[in-house]
Amino acid sequence: MSIKENLIHIKAQIGEKATLVAVSKTKPNEDIMEAYEAGQRIFGENKVQELAAKYESLPKDIEWHMIGHLQSNKVKYIAPFVQLLHGVDSEKLLKVVHKEGVKCDRKIPCLLQVHIAEEETKFGFSEDELVQLLTDELIESVSHVDICGLMGMATNTDDEGQIRKEFGHLKLIFKNLKKTVFTNQESFKEISMGMSGDFEIAMEEGSTMVRVGSSIFGYRNYH
Ligand SMILES: *Cc1c(COP(=O)(O)O)cnc(C)c1O
Repeated sequence: MSIKENLIHIKAQIGEKATLVAVSKTKPNEDIMEAYEAGQRIFGENKVQELAAKYESLPKDIEWHMIGHLQSNKVKYIAPFVQLLHGVDSEKLLKVVHKEGVKCDRKIPCLLQVHIAEEETKFGFSEDELVQLLTDELIESVSHVDICGLMGMATNTDDEGQIRKEFGHLKLIFKNLKKTVFTNQESFKEISMGMSGDFEIAMEEGSTMVRVGSSIFGYRNYH
């Protein structure tokens, strides 16, 4: 199937329930343009350099999301235009994003990454760490960051029950924070969870944003 056909198929599955971030990492501009011409406007990348290069060369009405792990010394390259940072996973990074937001006079939309998987390798905060981090004082001090919600990745497993449990856990953490820390903050509303292999489960568990790559663009060849 073509990229366009894949996209139509995925969009039909998602319906109005969630926002689709088309993950175009490693894929050439031609592939992105095929999705663009089929109506897709939100794309996700996980490398700063690749994201910045694609931003430069592709239509300016594309919304670029940084979905991967972000090094604080690279925030400056995407701060002026990035529409959402999905992987904010440390206090240090949050503060750097704020600083870069001040420099380019914008409030940078971010999601806090939560560690929900069993694997040790995945980045992110625990719920306890989030509760400790998110004091009124901290939130006031990062005025140029807009904390729009949470992001998480489930364990890479065939065990659907496990995946469902992890996504359910993320939703619960979101609800708890909404009730306590972000009570009056309307912009705290996104739960970014679900990829090609598990976005249907993620949507059933309350995802508002899915990040789908290979089911749209085909398998990635990293070399
Ligand atoms: C690559 C990537 C995706 C998309 O993965 P697919 O399995 O190709 O859909 C989603 N989220 C993150 C953080 C990624 O790095």
